[in-house]
Amino acid sequence: MPRSVLVTGGARGLGLEIARMFAAAGDAVAVTYRKGEVPDGLLGVRCDVTEEKEVAAALAEVREAHGPVEVLVSNAGIIDIGLLPRVREEDFYRVLDTNLGGAFRVAKAVSRDMIRMRRGRMIFISSVAGFKGTAGQTGYAASKAGLIGFSRSLAREVAKRGITVNVVAPGLLDTDMTTDVPQSARDQILAEVPLGRTARLEEVAATAVWLASDLAGAVTGAVIPVDGGGSMGY
Ligand code: NDP
Repeated sequence: MPRSVLVTGGARGLGLEIARMFAAAGDAVAVTYRKGEVPDGLLGVRCDVTEEKEVAAALAEVREAHGPVEVLVSNAGIIDIGLLPRVREEDFYRVLDTNLGGAFRVAKAVSRDMIRMRRGRMIFISSVAGFKGTAGQTGYAASKAGLIGFSRSLAREVAKRGITVNVVAPGLLDTDMTTDVPQSARDQILAEVPLGRTARLEEVAATAVWLASDLAGAVTGAVIPVDGGGSMGY
């Protein structure tokens, strides 16, 4: 039986890579999207993760098509760049509401079925910014650090129900989110990375797929950096 997998923000970027890898392994994969097209082979469900009602409606659609979600990859996220004196309060909270609030809403919505089934996997996409910090990304880093405390608390809550909860923390990736990062900033980041490169999207996706596999059944509350070693020691 294919598992019912949901990837938020899975119609592009890292989320799409993750969704495709689960689908290639034979899972029934749904992705949330807000506009545009969803690539073939994936079930697209419209959903803005800042809206509780949309999350509930999307989950109902997935349940109807594929059954209750057994694997959640909470990937949807935004970034806001600016030094603190210039950050507007509404933008700070928009980042928190999407990255942390969105993860909360989706996790809460899928947890009911997982608890009832007494099995499930939740994987949250954080960022090395959450533990290293990044100048100009106070809100983003706070939201990504928040995901770690959130998921570790949830891991303790649901462990006895056979559900694991883990975090994947990528370093710099090549997606729409980072197209504006200037070469000088990339060089600066890479100078601190022992492997001399950051991860390819499929390397991050493979970590999520492994965390959802049977052989990762003893791993919960983990935070796995996939970043060329740049956050080692944090
Ligand atoms: P993209 O900008 O390419 O994709 C962002 C995704 O998030 C899109 O699928 C988008 O969906 C979705 N999204 C944003 N806001 C919402 C919302 N309110 N409701 C629902 N979906 C939303 O970025 P990446 O693929 O790079 O980012 C994916 C994740 O990886 C993020 O959590 C990001 O923080 C994290 N990450 C990225 C890094 C990088 O260097 N790129 C490094 C470390 C972590 P839609 O198609 O509907 O717009």
